Amino acid sequence: MKTQTQTQTQTLLKKVYGYDNFRPLQEEIINRTIDGKDSFVLMPTGGGKSMCFQIPALIFNGITIVVSPLISLMKDQVQALKSNGIKADFFNSSISTIEENEVINRAINGELQLLYLSPEKLISVSNTWLKELNIKLVAIDEAHCVSMWGHDFRPEYTQLKVFRNSIPKVPFMALTATADKSARKDIEKQLGLTDSKLFISSFDRKNLSIEVRGQVEKKKKLQEIVNFINRRKNESGIIYCLSRKNTEEVANYLKQEGHSVAFYHAGMNHEERESTQTDFINDDTKIIVATIAFGMGIDKSNVRFVIHYNLPKNLEGYYQEIGRAGRDGLASETILYYNMRDFVLYSQFADGGANSAMQKEKLNRMLQFTEAKSCRRKILLSYFGEHLSENCGNCDVCENPPKDFEGTILTQKALSGIARMGEKDGITMLINVLRGSNNADIHSKQYFNLKTYGIGKDVSFFDWRDYIIQMANQGLIEIMYSENSALKISPIGWKVLKGEKTVRLTTPLSSDERKKTQK
Ligand code: ADP
Ligand code: ZN
Repeated sequence: MKTQTQTQTQTLLKKVYGYDNFRPLQEEIINRTIDGKDSFVLMPTGGGKSMCFQIPALIFNGITIVVSPLISLMKDQVQALKSNGIKADFFNSSISTIEENEVINRAINGELQLLYLSPEKLISVSNTWLKELNIKLVAIDEAHCVSMWGHDFRPEYTQLKVFRNSIPKVPFMALTATADKSARKDIEKQLGLTDSKLFISSFDRKNLSIEVRGQVEKKKKLQEIVNFINRRKNESGIIYCLSRKNTEEVANYLKQEGHSVAFYHAGMNHEERESTQTDFINDDTKIIVATIAFGMGIDKSNVRFVIHYNLPKNLEGYYQEIGRAGRDGLASETILYYNMRDFVLYSQFADGGANSAMQKEKLNRMLQFTEAKSCRRKILLSYFGEHLSENCGNCDVCENPPKDFEGTILTQKALSGIARMGEKDGITMLINVLRGSNNADIHSKQYFNLKTYGIGKDVSFFDWRDYIIQMANQGLIEIMYSENSALKISPIGWKVLKGEKTVRLTTPLSSDERKKTQK
């Protein structure tokens, strides 16, 4: 039998959103929230996160606070809610003082069910009128911004814990489309979510094909892109470039070739950006060539392709960007071009900054992905903590599989090395132990006493490195960026160690080939 809350949520789903069924996890999250408990919601963009806090907000007798850094998105969401008869408003730097006062009055008089705030505004009013509200729920959208281990850290988010402590009994919901294990742990800590339940919905976007093309020189790259677009007349797509200058160059080139195209970057003024975006959404412009400033919060369902003209800086950003294709569920294509020049350039950018070591590690992981010889979707999903049992059949590696060999014993050697070292060390230390190297670190940690010391002498340093990265790519090993890139064994890694699962590896590049790809 259905409980009263179930009937109520089901009715709202139909009445407000017009849907008959919840997607997996939505209902469970909503019920937990109505019970007054904290949740951590990790769902891909377009996965249906908003409903998870909006439905409880409609059921609660009080106000729900939604924290979001995306001012343009806030306005759209509030407008959509209002047009459905829901009492919602937003409070951020884009509104006038008069409007501010109106919102404050409505909130204090109990006339609002949802109030969207930017983190800056929330902090600035958390000790004044906000305290007087009957807050029933706080939703932190884009929660990865809380963490230094995320890829879009925003300092103002770190003050949210103070707000949380000021209303300890109110349930909190953290929502994001992008957070690896390190970031997840950190977000929970930063927000003080000691008893939250993690909800991860599948990140697999089966309708997106994944292709990586490396070391293509500029002229050929542009020609390939033109050929690609020519074969997809009238289809919408996004081409991501590293620099503003690049976006203009590529857009002009495509325009000369007769395509409907515009560029977009943060150097344009607000009006220009708005109109470019609107033209794209309305299909008046087919192709946008943009820096990564483009796309956050854009809800366009029929983007048929996403091309990365340059190497993305990390897998989180890459996955988010390709995720803007095919939201309607129809087959869509993604192509990533990379070259070592981008890699070297970013490595220099990363120098010096606060968490530059982590940025470099993530960049390395990005490069390893491009050079991988195992199913790319498996790599991406395992990076986000999800393990596919089969290869996807819809990526360039699956379509052109490399020759591989039985690598279980080799893998077990590496994994047992990690286990005996207590899962505290990084890749270099592991290889040195496996190869029985003799250096000061190994001495001070007394690793020469380990059973695994020297069991991998017969494999060169570079080959070990390649194999260990393959193991990480296959989801057997996790690299913990928040712990100095220490290697940890994943649940399937343990299965391999216990002999319950076999592993196939591919032969590493010879040193000659390695030099070639680094040119
Ligand atoms: P997110 O915030 O995770 O990016 P949204 O909450 O904006 O995603 O939802 C993405 C789209 O999916 C919206 O158009 C929304 O109406 C739709 N959606 C959400 N839940 C459902 C559902 N249960 N059934 C059908 N469509 C849904
Ligand atoms: Zn694949």
